[in-house]
Amino acid sequence: MEILIVVAAVLLAAAVFCVLWAVRLSKHGFRCRKCSREFYPRWRSLVFAVHAYDQYEIRCPHCGNKGCTEVKAEDVSDNESSR
Ligand SMILES: [Zn+2]
Repeated sequence: MEILIVVAAVLLAAAVFCVLWAVRLSKHGFRCRKCSREFYPRWRSLVFAVHAYDQYEIRCPHCGNKGCTEVKAEDVSDNESSR
């Protein structure tokens, strides 16, 4: 039954990694492909979000369109400098 413990440990590590990745990603801005407005999604919606490269299937809170692009760090530098 040791294999079950190993499998459980691997799954737990993968889940923790996914959450940490999603929390980090939720600090980035996302821009809606339809209305071009930026928003910061909840990390929980990012964990289950389907993505390819910088395209994410997250629902836009402004227009409800599913599909947005990750805003790179260079683009959000305005927010950093305003602190
Ligand atoms: Zn939108």
